[in-house]
Order: sequence, then structure tokens, then C-alpha cells
Amino acid sequence: MSHELNVLRQVIGMLTYDTAIIGGGAAGIVAAISAARKSASVIICERMPKLGKKILVSGGGRCNLSNEALDGPHYNREGRGLVRSVFARFGRDDISGFFKEVGLEMYAEGGRVFPVTDQSSSVLKVLEMELKRLSVTVDFGFEAADIAGGDGFTVTSKAGKKIKSDKLIIAGGGKSYPALGSDGSCYALAKKFGHSVIEPVPVAVPLTVKDPLCHHLQGQKIAARVKSIIDGNVEGEAAGELLFAKYGLSGTAILDISDEISIAIHRHNKGDVFVSADMVPFMEKGALESELGRRIGRKVQAEEMLAGILPNKFSYLFREMFKAPDTGKAAAALKDRRFKVLGTRGWNEAEFTAGGVDAGEVEEGTLESKLKEGLYFAGEILDVHGGRGGYNLAWAWASGFIAGLAE
Ligand SMILES: Cc1cc2nc3c(=O)[nH]c(=O)nc-3n(C[C@H](O)[C@H](O)[C@H](O)COP(=O)(O)OP(=O)(O)OC[C@H]3O[C@@H](n4cnc5c(N)ncnc54)[C@H](O)[C@@H]3O)c2cc1C
Repeated sequence: MSHELNVLRQVIGMLTYDTAIIGGGAAGIVAAISAARKSASVIICERMPKLGKKILVSGGGRCNLSNEALDGPHYNREGRGLVRSVFARFGRDDISGFFKEVGLEMYAEGGRVFPVTDQSSSVLKVLEMELKRLSVTVDFGFEAADIAGGDGFTVTSKAGKKIKSDKLIIAGGGKSYPALGSDGSCYALAKKFGHSVIEPVPVAVPLTVKDPLCHHLQGQKIAARVKSIIDGNVEGEAAGELLFAKYGLSGTAILDISDEISIAIHRHNKGDVFVSADMVPFMEKGALESELGRRIGRKVQAEEMLAGILPNKFSYLFREMFKAPDTGKAAAALKDRRFKVLGTRGWNEAEFTAGGVDAGEVEEGTLESKLKEGLYFAGEILDVHGGRGGYNLAWAWASGFIAGLAE
């Protein structure tokens, strides 16, 4: 559709498009590009004054945009079938090919894919250039508040503006970081067509814990191996950074095991939820025990027993452990320190959403609604979430591209 024709549509007030897309995040932008490349007239309805705000903050501003291993196990069980069906049509190589084609050079680091500029703004820029080249219309400040089906779709904004389209793609994201635009308002739109929404909960999120250790060690980071223990069962495990904070625990290892914990607490109201931290992951328990024994033999002071193994602050805090030296007990306590989890830091600090539109209610391979012809979903609005490492953006790009394809 030419730019002139789009302008003409606006002038005569005929706000009718082949494809309307609600949400101009990662999924919505790529959906618009793939639809417009097939000559469809396309509009993105975006409630914020700018596109892709979440792309800009992703990967700490570097945008970890994909991963070299995009296989199913990295995604939630409920979403895996759908994820596989989408990646079978538009997978890892298609994602990198797509970005190369729009002008983005990338590199991989430990499997994680980044733009060579290390700037997420480069990713957004090349996407915006492609939207412009394809004359995609973007209606900023358009907050979709209602949709009606019938002969095509009518989307009504909060301010009462109406847009008609033959095909509708809902790509309004989940509920994390609402300040960036995705506030969960699109779940209600999906429900209008009878879709079920699996209760959304914040994931990749820091945990609240009431433990004097967190208070005393706030700001301190260590390398650790952590496990989530729910109702006495180990549900998840991760190695990485453990960060002590005034409110509880954070760091990459905690974010990586936060999914099961958040679902247990927020969705299933469970109270028996613990994090077990191995604070000395680089030593087997036996080796740690004999090293502690060696130190006792050298008459090392209780408050210096952990010097060189853990940051100095720990030695002081754990000195009670060595007043009546029992090296077995001390090693066990350091290798399995339990923290009772009270909750999570919530939507404002969660990188992703677990839950959303039931993945079983959209067609595998096309993402068309099983309940309403011509309606499609893409991105985080669906009950699909991956681990950290580029999996969520990879899903957003791929699902957007596939949803945009169908005519
Ligand atoms: C801090 C942070 C860091 C992250 N880092 C990474 C990373 O490095 N790698 C990775 O893979 N993933 C990362 N993610 C996750 C990733 O950014 C998201 O999964 C992805 O952006 C989701 O894309 P989306 O298009 O589905 O949704 P969004 O990006 O949330 O876009 C949805 C859009 O819809 C708009 N919208 C919502 N409701 C309406 C409405 N009613 N009407 C009109 N518009 C509406 C919103 O304003 C928004 O622009 C990170 C997330 C956060 C918060």
C-alpha cells in the first residue's frame, strides 16, 4: 500500500485497513512488517507515544535479541507445542536473516545474540526504518479499549476513535513493566471473543525474603547455585549471581528460578516455598569440611574462618557457626542455606509474564484464534514465556512474523 493511499484514507476518514495490529512492541512491529511486505495496508495502534519501549530496556540496554539454541525446553510446558510450530516456520536462522535484511549486524556470546553495536536502540531503529519503508501507519496514543467482530473487526480506542480491519492481530504484551506500555489491558479484548486467560504472574523477578542475612549483606553479590523448593520438592535449579538485598534476594540465579516460585505463590497460594543457596558452589561438601578442619587446626579465629572463601562480611556474620566447631554442620549450612520466600517484587521488577491467552486456543503454525476467524495473537500476550537468554524476544519476533503472514 503506497504512502499516498494511506494519507488519502486518513483524509477521507476511511480508517479501514487490511490488517490492524494492537500493540507496537517487538511482536507487533514485526507482524506489521511481515503483513506490509505482502502489500497489505497495515496500521499499528499503540497506546504509548513511541514504539518498542521494552525493546530499548531489554538486555540492560544491549538487547539480547535471540539465542542460538531456540529449542522447546527453554519455554513453559504449556507453550512448547505452539513455540515449536512457530519456530518450524520461522526459526533461529530466519530471525537472524530477517534482522540482517533490515540492516542489523549481530554477534553471539555464549549462545546469546546481540546487535554488534551493543545498543538496543539500533534494533529499534532498523525496525522503524523498515516500517517507514513499507508505509505502515502508526497511530500513537491509540489505547484499544474495545473490539467487535462481525464483518471484519472494529477496534475502538479509549478516546472513541474507531478503526476497521479485515484481520486483527493482538500483540499488546503481558503485564510486566507497565510503565513501558504493557499493562495487561489486552487480556480483556481477547476475552471478548471467548478466549481464556491463564492467570498472569510476574516472572524473572526478585524475591522477598525476611532473613537477617539479607539485611546485613544488602548489596553483596556472590556466585552461587540456588534451588527452588516447593512443598518439599526441588522444582528448579540455577547457577549464577546471588545478590542480597534489603527486601530479600535477587541476581541472575534468583531470576532464573523465580518462575516456579512466583507461580506457586501467586497462582496457587502456596506457603511452603524456599530457596536453598549453595554459597560455596566451587567446593564439594567434603572438601569444604576438610578445609574448615584445616583452619581450625591452625587456630584460625571464628570470625576469620571463611576468609578467602566468601567475602569478608560473611566471616563475621557466620562467626557463631565456629564458636563450637562442627565442620560437618558448618559445611552443610553453607552448602544449603534455606530462605523462606514470602513473595516477589511484582510487576514493576519482573522481566516477563507467565500466563496470558491460553496457548491451546490458537492454531499451531499460524497463531489464528480457534474461536474467531481472522483474529491472531503474537508475543507475550500468549501463555508462552521462555528463560532469560533471548528466548522471549525470539518468540516475540517469530510469532509476530507468522501472525502477520496470513492473509
Ligand atoms: C527489563 C527487561 C529486560 C528484558 N530483556 C530481555 C532480553 O534481553 N531478551 C529477551 O529475549 N527478552 C527480554 N525481555 C522480555 C522482552 O522484552 C519481552 O518479552 C518482549 O518485548 C515482548 O514483546 P511484545 O511485543 O509481546 O510485548 P511488548 O514489548 O510489551 O509490547 C506490547 C505493546 O503493546 C502496547 N499496548 C498494550 N496494551 C495496549 C492497548 N490496549 N492498546 C494499544 N497498545 C497497547 C504497549 O504499549 C506495548 O508497546 C526483557 C523485559 C524487560 C522488562
